[in-house]
This record gives sequence, C-alpha cells and structure tokens, in this order.
Amino acid sequence: SLVQNRVVVLGGGESGAGAAILAKSKGFDVFLSDKGQLHQKYSDILIAENIPFEQGQHTEERILDSDLVVKSPGIPDTVPLIVALREKGIPVISEIEFASRYTDAQLIAITGSNGKTTTTLLTYHILKNAGLNVGLAGNIGESFAWQVAEKKFDYYVLEISSFQLDNIIDFRPHISVLLNITPDHLDRYGYSFQNYVNSKFNVIRNQKVSDHLIYFEDSEVITDEFAKRNIIPHQWGISLEEKLESGSYLNDGQLFSQINGRTFEQEFDKLPIKGPHNAINAMAAISVAQLLGVNPAQISEGLLSFSNAPHRLEEVEVINGVTYVNDSKATNVDSVFYALGSFNQPVILIAGGVDKGNDYSQIEELVRNKVKGLIVLGKSFEKLQDYFSGKVPQIYTTQDVQDAVNKGQEWGVPGDIVLLSPACASFDLFKNYEDRGDKFKAAVRNLISQ
Ligand code: ADP
Repeated sequence: SLVQNRVVVLGGGESGAGAAILAKSKGFDVFLSDKGQLHQKYSDILIAENIPFEQGQHTEERILDSDLVVKSPGIPDTVPLIVALREKGIPVISEIEFASRYTDAQLIAITGSNGKTTTTLLTYHILKNAGLNVGLAGNIGESFAWQVAEKKFDYYVLEISSFQLDNIIDFRPHISVLLNITPDHLDRYGYSFQNYVNSKFNVIRNQKVSDHLIYFEDSEVITDEFAKRNIIPHQWGISLEEKLESGSYLNDGQLFSQINGRTFEQEFDKLPIKGPHNAINAMAAISVAQLLGVNPAQISEGLLSFSNAPHRLEEVEVINGVTYVNDSKATNVDSVFYALGSFNQPVILIAGGVDKGNDYSQIEELVRNKVKGLIVLGKSFEKLQDYFSGKVPQIYTTQDVQDAVNKGQEWGVPGDIVLLSPACASFDLFKNYEDRGDKFKAAVRNLISQ
C-alpha cells in the first residue's frame, strides 16, 4: 500500500523508544521488537503509551508484515531479518531519517570517525549561549525522534554516526560537518574502507546549493573523495597546515575563520580544550556559529566557557609529579594519534581491548618517540604486544585495570604522563568506555589512599 501505516521499530534503546513514541504521536500503528531485554525505563514508557512490544525475540511474521521499519544503529544490515525485509521491498530507515521527516528545524549534522561528541557539545554550547532555540541530539542524550515528538526547536545539533547514515533516504542537514574519516568499524563495512567512506559521505547526499559543508581540508581521504564526486553544498575548509582564504585555520596559536564574509579570531591556548585535534573541533564549531550569524563576542564567550564530556583526555590526578589522563573514549587508532600528539612529556601508554581491525602503523613513529612504556590492558594482547615489541623500551600485559595503573606508577617519574588511550573497544573487560574510564579513575585514586 502507499500509506505506510504499520511501523515496526527494531531495537528498544534510546533511539528505538524515541522512534516508537514519535511514530505513535503521528498516528502510526506501532510495534517495537528487541532481541535483548529492554531497560525498564523504556518498557515502562511503552506500556504507559500503549505501544505493543516484544523482547528477547523478533517475531518475523509480524515484522515482515510492516510498511516501514525503523532500525536501531546497533543492528547490522547483514543480519537475515534485515535482508529479508529488503527482499520484500520494505523500507528500513534509521531513527534520524524517521525523525527528520517530522521537523522543520534546521539541522546541523556532525560526523567523522573522531571528535563528533566534542564538536557537537561545543557547537550546541555556543549556539545555546548565543540565545538560539537549539536542541542537542543524535548519539548524545535524549534521542532526536523523542525530542521531535515532544519539543519545538528551531535548530538541532546532531551527532551522527555512520550507522545512522547507512539508512537514510531524505535526511538533509542544512549544515554538515565532516571532521575526518579514518579506519573504524570496518567489521560492519565488509572490511572495506571505501564502504565506510561512502557511508560518511551520505551526510551530504541530499544537501542543496543553499546548504553548507564544513570539512577538514588536511584529510587526504576527504579531499580525494571530493575529486571523485560532485559536491553540491557550499564548502568551508578547516586546516592546521594552510592559511585558507575562506574557511578556518590555525596559525601561530591563533584560530582564524572567514566564513560568508564574517571574520573571527581567537587565541587557541585560552580555550579549555587542548591539543591539535581540539583546534579542528573548535574551528568546526566556530564555522557553524558564523554561518548561523552568531556574533564574534558570543562565539568567544561560548568557546571559553565550554567544558567537555568526561573520558576525553580528562586529567584525573597528579600524583608524585606523574599526571594520569583518562582518554577511554579513544576507541580507535586515530584518536590515540591525536592523544599522543597532545603531550610533549614522556608517556606511559595503557592501550588494548577489543581490536576492530586496527593498523598501528599510523602511531608507530609517535609511539617510538614518546612512549617509554606500553601497558596492554585486554584479553587479547598479542597483536599490540607483537606490533610494538622492540619499538618501546618496555611492555607489560595485564587484564586488571588496577594492576595496569600500579605498573604505570612503578614506571613513572615526575613529569611523565600515564595515559589510558586504548585504541580499542572496551567490551572484553568492561561494560562500555565510560565504565572503563570510571574504573581507571578509581584505580588512579586508589594510589592516593595507599
Ligand atoms: P567521537 O564522538 O567521534 O568518538 P569524541 O569527541 O568523543 O569523538 O573524542 C574521542 C577521542 O577522539 C578523543 O579522546 C580524542 O582522543 C580523539 N579526537 C577528538 N577530536 C578529534 C579530531 N578532530 N580528530 C582526531 N581525533 C580526535
């Protein structure tokens, strides 16, 4: 039928529950199905809203009998159920696609392999501080769909993952931000980097000439892709290396930005976020704010008053002159590259966990130059151990976070950094990266009470 009456939502986490609430509020006949167990918070809401759901299974007949499926980003496109839906011609879309159909707000979509959360939070902070009626959604906090169902914003700053972009049809941001594309999640992309690149470039697929793309000019992956494609939106580069005439760049410690005839300048060292990667993130946020007409004084105010989310190069404690830094959110190699680049001091690096097809050559030179000891924390330690054996003075392997921190203390001398920046996912030993970061911080604080 032409009318898409029956919506099935697959996955009952934050985005799935939000999609179900939105679908219900739009008059759809909704059914939610989750193969695992729902968080009680979500099952309570579904019951209160009279939305039928199942958990612990997917009832295929019922799911295959729908007009539209909203799929959680956690479910790969390759599972038999999704393949079966596709074969039947039933559209399978992501939650951001679904939600974007029911809002007139201007969308700012921030994607990239790294820096999404920081840039999204910073952009939101600047816009909100400047008095715009703006919402924050995507991979952060309350889902986009949920907010579209219940709130009325003029703008949304959205943190967008490649998985969300895999299942869009008409999703069209007014401003898209492409921070970088480096190998990540290759297990979900048939181990093809190009597939992953294509997924990220979906963010501009529906953009029009009146829309904007802010991108990291120094990334060859991005600029090579530009050469292959016809890019429709206005393009504004960000560079750490070149003085761009239009766009933004870092020169001599100053951030400069010239966008749409507006100029902005700010000393980078004054910002609470540090390291070259954060200069990129700051310039992305500045560019967005300039495009939306926020004045320079307000942009500065926002930049200076920002505090980032935890687990991102978060300084935990200085103990006997050794600084302990929690960068648990660094779940791929590129983020470790930037983390190491943020320190001039010798580093004792704690890395490891679930390998996502990592190639460590990108950080080899930095590790050789900066890392005085490598502590591999994880169940499968061989790959890291083998790769860096002979390239760092000492390697220790463990599966216990306290033991790792104790070893860091043993090796550390005043002036050193003990850095947890794992390059890997956390699921072997921890619930998630937050849990890993929290346990690391607790282990560090245990050193004080000893
Ligand atoms: P994401 O949400 O994309 O995972 P975060 O803002 O949470 O990104 O940052 C995760 C980690 O990635 C940080 O701890 C930092 O080490 C690294 N990082 C942050 N911004 C960038 C960037 N622009 N380029 C490369 N690495 C970055």
